[in-house]
Amino acid sequence: MVAALLITAAFAACLGLVLLWLPATQRREDILAERINELLPQTQCRRCTFDGCLPYATAIARGEAGIDQCPPGGDTTAAALATLLRRERRAVDPQYGVMPVYPAVAVIDETTCIGCTKCIQACPVDAIVGGSKLMHTVIAADCTGCELCIPPCPVDCIDMRPAPAGMQQFPPLMAAR
Ligand code: SF4
Ligand code: SF4
Ligand code: SF4
Repeated sequence: MVAALLITAAFAACLGLVLLWLPATQRREDILAERINELLPQTQCRRCTFDGCLPYATAIARGEAGIDQCPPGGDTTAAALATLLRRERRAVDPQYGVMPVYPAVAVIDETTCIGCTKCIQACPVDAIVGGSKLMHTVIAADCTGCELCIPPCPVDCIDMRPAPAGMQQFPPLMAAR
């Protein structure tokens, strides 16, 4: 009887420790993910194979992704991640894609656009305006150059062009190049 009580008490104590440890671990991961996310370019382009910069940062914080998966950030961002995480420096792995050497924005050929809205649905930062069966246009100041709007366009009327001179909306990108 006493032995059973002792075993039950020991089990409860262990459970309590686990319940205390889990949230603390989660908090540490969340804080680290936030710090990693601050180093990422925020294009939300998904080249890293995750659904955006924060999911990629979370995966790195959990040890589930490498630091070499962000082409927009380039080797500069990979080096910053290595410093933060005290890991060996690595160049970006080209299997995740290669970015143009200049900051780019999408431009829609408005004479060809059929107003299907597929690009609006694909844009992760709401940088495209237009209505169904109406001409669409890109707000250059909001475009991160992620290129996600290009594949869905059924009439191939979206091109990437160099961002207008003086645009400052992606300083991490520019710093990384
Ligand atoms: S590849 Fe880089 S910029 Fe693109 S979503 Fe992933 S972390 Fe963000
Ligand atoms: S307009 Fe195209 S390239 Fe620009 S942010 Fe939206 S999806 Fe990306
Ligand atoms: S996907 Fe192409 S055709 Fe459709 S609205 Fe966008 S730019 Fe126009």
